[in-house]
Amino acid sequence: MAEAPLDILVVGGGITGAGIARDAAMRGLRVALVERADFAAGTSSRSSRLVHGGLRYLEHGALHLVFEASRERRILLRTAPHLVRPRSFLFPLFAGGRVPRWQLAAGLWLYDGLSLFRNVRRHQWLSKRGLLRAEPGLRASDLEGGARYWDAQCDDARLTLANVRDAHHHGALVANYAAVEAFDAADGRVRGARVRDLTTGDRLTVRALVTVNATGPWSDAVRGDGRALLQLTKGAHVAVPRARVGHREAITLLSPLDGRVMFILPWGDLTYVGTTDTDHDGPPDDVRVSGADVRYLLRSANAVFPDARLTPDDVITTWAGLRPLLRPAQARQPTAVSREHRIVEGPGMISVMGGKLTTYRAMAAEVTDRAVARLHEFDGRTPPPRARTDREPLPGGETRDLELVAAEAMREGVTADLARYLADTYGTEAPAVARLARSDPRLAAPVTPGHPAVRAQLVHALRREMALTLADLLIRRTHVFHEVRGHALAEAGGLVDVVADEAGWDAGRKARELSEYLAEVERTEAFRTEIDDP
Ligand SMILES: Cc1cc2nc3c(=O)[nH]c(=O)nc-3n(C[C@H](O)[C@H](O)[C@H](O)COP(=O)(O)OP(=O)(O)OC[C@H]3O[C@@H](n4cnc5c(N)ncnc54)[C@H](O)[C@@H]3O)c2cc1C
Repeated sequence: MAEAPLDILVVGGGITGAGIARDAAMRGLRVALVERADFAAGTSSRSSRLVHGGLRYLEHGALHLVFEASRERRILLRTAPHLVRPRSFLFPLFAGGRVPRWQLAAGLWLYDGLSLFRNVRRHQWLSKRGLLRAEPGLRASDLEGGARYWDAQCDDARLTLANVRDAHHHGALVANYAAVEAFDAADGRVRGARVRDLTTGDRLTVRALVTVNATGPWSDAVRGDGRALLQLTKGAHVAVPRARVGHREAITLLSPLDGRVMFILPWGDLTYVGTTDTDHDGPPDDVRVSGADVRYLLRSANAVFPDARLTPDDVITTWAGLRPLLRPAQARQPTAVSREHRIVEGPGMISVMGGKLTTYRAMAAEVTDRAVARLHEFDGRTPPPRARTDREPLPGGETRDLELVAAEAMREGVTADLARYLADTYGTEAPAVARLARSDPRLAAPVTPGHPAVRAQLVHALRREMALTLADLLIRRTHVFHEVRGHALAEAGGLVDVVADEAGWDAGRKARELSEYLAEVERTEAFRTEIDDP
């Protein structure tokens, strides 16, 4: 990166920065992406994992947001079918609830209409009996009926990674654990940044004609002009065993505690409950789920699934992210557009803030258009044509036929269950991972009991997915950390030994990896000491 000046330096390897790097690289620009932690380690692995039109934005009349998000949902279902999956949602209505039946009915027609009636399926109205047949565990008292509508779920961290890898495939230089420490702006115009390689401690100067600040919740601090454009709010989630709730579909509910829209989401054998929405005034690094968050989430879920009687002991994992929302004074209409993004320009630098996982691709195209315009002003070059990010599949997304991919993976000699799991995780790259598992019996062994991931995936992540730490491997490349009780801490020492050769870790580094992993576990579990009355 330091060798020759770049056209664009993108700072921040969340979904926004990754999407911009991919778009710019596909236009043939010389682009680099730096991320100070792991790709998606910020907000982009802490979302509710929905690719959705945003039904609740209809309440604020934000039709343009829903229209755009619905289009993006359609595109992502096509370009990343292994990472973005259709999901049916049930919206139960209870007597005295905040949303009357006519409003939901009108909203769902509008929701389907704004997707040009090209959503996965059209919504369907359900009687009380129909709803209870679909979800027998729902609270029957005061239930008045409801509706089924469609959205999508997505693996947020791997969607980010897919964008980073495709950016690289199209020529971008990409680095995780590379932090921008300061911008290079001797004459008032940003001409790149001083970047620290956190793996070696080396500092280097990366020169660029345009620098893009895509650091999400960190962007006020990184921009460093003293203006606070963002208001951070925390969104917390908990995961519990799905069998404890017993639901089949995703549930959209209005929290009986305060009427906020919440979700109960199936994810394999787990159920995610989220989110909260509370102001966060501390630094963006300091975010975790508190005892109060867990209490709120479990109480809300128990009110709708009363037989579940969820308690903190049921909680397998927690995670929280920060919404980089625009301060009301900065947004054009305070409440309506709070999740819209904003682009702020200074000499040589473009900052992008806000947005959603769902709409990252459209946002990336808009930011890249701006960067291209600045490059044209700078050296008169002909702007390259827009990238076809709406057509080009993301890595692994070349086919929607995951059955066929699983069959191919099986031909590499793995079981049908593992083949299906690999196909769902890697798409068309699954057979390569299956081959790796087959190459060495130690790699065919599970990462941890009770989870389908195998050790070959860890080696694959080190070789092909730029994983550098144990946390990268277990939290974001596989989701073992969040999907087994105890976060696989008991196996962590053995896993470090398994990957040490491949990763080049000596005894000191192995110990450091373990203690950093333990710190993540402790942060995730800290809520337990804060709950006395669940
Ligand atoms: C609780 C919650 C639930 C959500 N659920 C959904 C959902 O279901 N669907 C949806 O569409 N959207 C959802 N969103 C919104 C979506 O997750 C975010 O809009 C999106 O992830 C923001 O991505 P980003 O790349 O802008 O920020 P981030 O993912 O936070 O990325 C910014 C990156 O910049 C890096 N960085 C910071 N400083 C530096 C530096 N000095 N040098 C280099 N790198 C730096 C950080 O390490 C970080 O990785 C949710 C958000 C939250 C908080």
